[in-house]
Amino acid sequence: MSETKRRIRTIGVLTSGGDSPGMNCAIRAIVRSSLREGLKVYGIKRGYQGLINNDMEEMTASSVGNIIQRGGTILYTSRCPEFKEKHVREKAAQILEDRGVDALIVIGGDGSFKGAIAINEDFGVPVIGIPGTIDNDISGTDYTIGFDTAVQTAIEAVDKIRDTAQANDRTFLIEVMGARSSSIAIKVGICSGAENVLLNTDNIDYKQISDDIRRGLRRGKNSSVVIIAEGEKPGRSYDVAHVLEDMHHICSKVCILGHIQRGGSPTPNDRFYASIMGQTAVQSILEGKTQNAIVVREGKVMAVPLSDCSEKSDHAMNEFIGIAELLSI
Ligand code: ADP
Repeated sequence: MSETKRRIRTIGVLTSGGDSPGMNCAIRAIVRSSLREGLKVYGIKRGYQGLINNDMEEMTASSVGNIIQRGGTILYTSRCPEFKEKHVREKAAQILEDRGVDALIVIGGDGSFKGAIAINEDFGVPVIGIPGTIDNDISGTDYTIGFDTAVQTAIEAVDKIRDTAQANDRTFLIEVMGARSSSIAIKVGICSGAENVLLNTDNIDYKQISDDIRRGLRRGKNSSVVIIAEGEKPGRSYDVAHVLEDMHHICSKVCILGHIQRGGSPTPNDRFYASIMGQTAVQSILEGKTQNAIVVREGKVMAVPLSDCSEKSDHAMNEFIGIAELLSI
């Protein structure tokens, strides 16, 4: 046993930012791996807010029983803008010290990772991040926990809507989540055979969309589906529908999938990666790592510097932009 391994006795875990399906699988893996190593684990409630409120409780093997199949997070989550203040992080570091917590595992997105980096750099708290967000929009990792489930949920919905589109000779604009990310839109577009995908940042080429829809009609298609990333303005699909109708005489129906994409039972992929990442996070702490993220790169789960993962990035899906349109002739 290394010196570092002997020093670590207690781990804290929290979920922060937006919830995503599979967070519970990661919590379960962290708690059970820690207990196997003889460590104590505190579950901190509602992310950094719970940390500064000293709202935490000791976890046991049974406190994470029967949660592997549940969406959301048993630890709850929140946003805590005050954590950007150094004096607030100082209070958090003091609480961790008083509770005897030697290292913190943060499950969340790039914002949550910025908070983890800050408390590590300012006050020396060892931190490990696990990427958990439905948007798959974190730099440095090919995969984030929850993305697969969100895509699955959206595709099931699009398949259902396509039945109606087909039965009624209609064009549907289906808006998926992704305020600052197009990853869900790109993957759902490819997997549902959509005629077009509008990215969150797109300057929309309405003529192109109407040309694509008309080309399909000429070839005998009677329905079309356009997937739209919600962007900064959820509901933007209604604006798109108005322009298509007014300027290009394309009539369409809008369906906004919204928060249905956040919840639900995690897919096997999300359960698998969350479990491996949780276990790897505990091992990384025991190996003495102090500011790392557990990521998936080229199919492998590994620890990398947390700073690799503190920016928004659609890199994992970007190379597939345009494939949906290409295949929908
Ligand atoms: P996500 O983790 O899903 O990207 P947010 O960006 O809302 O979600 O971040 C979650 C929380 O992380 C914030 O409410 C805040 O507590 C913390 N956080 C975000 N950015 C910073 C930062 N620059 N410094 C310290 N804490 C931060």
